[in-house]
Amino acid sequence: MSETYDMLIIGAGPAGLTAGLYGSRSNLKTVIIEKGLVGGQLLNTEAIEDYTGFEHITGPELAQLMEKHARKFGVEINTFEGVESVKKIGETFEVRTDVRTYHATTVIATAGGTAIKLGVPGEDELAGRGVSYCAVCDGAFFNGQVITVVGGGDAAVEEANYLTRFGSRVYVVHRRNEFRAQKILQDQLFQNPKAEVIWDSVVETINGEKEVDRVLLKNVKTGETREHPTQGVFIFVGFKPNTYFLEDHPAHDVGGHLLTNDRMETGIPGLFAAGDLRSQLVRQITNAVGDATVAALAAEKYITHLKHAQAGVAV
Ligand code: NAP
Repeated sequence: MSETYDMLIIGAGPAGLTAGLYGSRSNLKTVIIEKGLVGGQLLNTEAIEDYTGFEHITGPELAQLMEKHARKFGVEINTFEGVESVKKIGETFEVRTDVRTYHATTVIATAGGTAIKLGVPGEDELAGRGVSYCAVCDGAFFNGQVITVVGGGDAAVEEANYLTRFGSRVYVVHRRNEFRAQKILQDQLFQNPKAEVIWDSVVETINGEKEVDRVLLKNVKTGETREHPTQGVFIFVGFKPNTYFLEDHPAHDVGGHLLTNDRMETGIPGLFAAGDLRSQLVRQITNAVGDATVAALAAEKYITHLKHAQAGVAV
């Protein structure tokens, strides 16, 4: 059997990097496994203005700082390695990736989520050819063109604001007549002369020969449909938590987000969760980082108790 890690963290976003910092700083043998690059959703975030102490920083800059800080304490970070399964065998977790098998006393799941698709004709066919799920990655491709954003949450409204830097006009198509986004984001959008909201409407199809040139919109109240010319379609209709690798199916909410107590413990002893895959009211960097701190320190206490119990020491 390979050497057993004290703490194995799945995902290298803000939560994973923070857990890694606290784990390695507590002298625990700590590894972070990341299926892509270090940074998670930070890599898709242009401007961050609500992370205390940083009035303005880009997502990739903050990711670099967080990585450097975590590495300072000796955490091992293995990138481009996808976790396929996590299973508890006795007191040890067996974590299989597409590269190798790890063993760990505790696991902290901080794997975030994946963008949900609209599921309409043309979406997959025109992905990367007008259809996008990342404004920061693709916004600049639509300089001077008409952009259509779908959704009414924080991501849709925030990214629509951002996309007005590029688009000649940015339409936001929302299926209801009010947004669920934070009021400050809504106010920014309503005051933006380049932005326009199309209420009570859904995208039925995304069309174009080689690239997107229009979408078919349907007004859900009147049933009327109409063609809406646009070159870019940015879809922000929520995301699905990445928990597919958890074989023991810990308790979760209707959206699949993991339920934890205030120590970030799931119902499986030794398995903790923090960040966007956890069931919670808000999904901000600040609370992801805070929850990851709790998870790592609670995991450290769990390890100490386990070692004492195994050694027969009263705790
Ligand atoms: P979200 O809050 O779940 O919003 C999803 C939006 O998409 C809702 O407006 C929903 O409409 C709409 N929608 C869902 N399925 C749809 C469909 N099939 N067709 C058309 N519209 C559909 O997701 P999110 O905006 O990605 O945000 C996820 C989390 O990240 C939230 O907790 C959010 O607060 C956080 N976040 C925060 C910030 C920030 O604070 N700066 C930025 C981005 C994200 P209904 O409203 O009608 O349900």
